[in-house]
Amino acid sequence: MYLICPQFISDILRNISRFVFMGVLWWSVSAATMLGMTQAATTAANDSATTFVKPSYISIIIDDIGYKHGDKRFTQLPKEISFAILPHAHYSFDLGLAAGEQGRDVMLHLPLESIVPSGQLGDGALMTYMDRAELQETFASALASVPNAIGINNHMGSKFTQLSGPLYALMDLVARQQLFFIDSRTTPFSKVESIARQKGIETARRNIFLDHVTSADFIERQFKQLIRQAQRNGHALAIGHPHDKTLAFLLQNLPLLKQHNIQLVGIQDYLYLTDTKAKTPNPVMQTEQTALQTAPLP
Ligand SMILES: [Zn+2]
Repeated sequence: MYLICPQFISDILRNISRFVFMGVLWWSVSAATMLGMTQAATTAANDSATTFVKPSYISIIIDDIGYKHGDKRFTQLPKEISFAILPHAHYSFDLGLAAGEQGRDVMLHLPLESIVPSGQLGDGALMTYMDRAELQETFASALASVPNAIGINNHMGSKFTQLSGPLYALMDLVARQQLFFIDSRTTPFSKVESIARQKGIETARRNIFLDHVTSADFIERQFKQLIRQAQRNGHALAIGHPHDKTLAFLLQNLPLLKQHNIQLVGIQDYLYLTDTKAKTPNPVMQTEQTALQTAPLP
């Protein structure tokens, strides 16, 4: 009978326990690694499922508001639709107040002299022959007639917006009031943006007129062009008018913008998001938009 040395047995037991311990440790590390990889894969899958794609931005201004009682119907549009209100018109003051109470951006739709003399210019128009004092008085009176106005866009103005002298005088007044200036682009030769930028005024240009032909088909075509331009450039700005067909179209189609990952924003947010103040005009964009001017202007 062999006698087994107790020390030998103790060594064997110690080795077995070390082996078992190492095995358990290896399994634990492997399991943890596998679990970590699985969790990482799951997180990545979740991330890709919720990946945030930056939206494009569209802003729409309704011009020529203030003449008709029926213009009030446009207050049923989302508050991101901005109002450009004519000065001294019968409903200018009330609609400026109502729109402001809704949290809607209100602009003074400032009549500026056009190349072809027009009776549609209306009261409060700035003319190129006015001296600085007359410009200042007319501008201040027009601005006071539209409550809550935070910016300007031009009504007509194909002559005024081409002439540096009158524009510098006007932009001095706009800068003093800390207003922004949207160029309605009633002429491809407008100097509004360049002179506004020189004066440190936030500015942008109208890309699309929605409804200078007031048929539903035409408005739809222009709206689709607006969407395409927003998707291509990241943003686009349209101007519409207080026509029945425009109201009906917008009520029906604005909710569809989300499907195109396009966010509708008020004009002040549009200026902020597109950072136009800091940018020099994009020559590619200018070429494209100048081409749009071949369409008849309202
Ligand atoms: Zn107008």
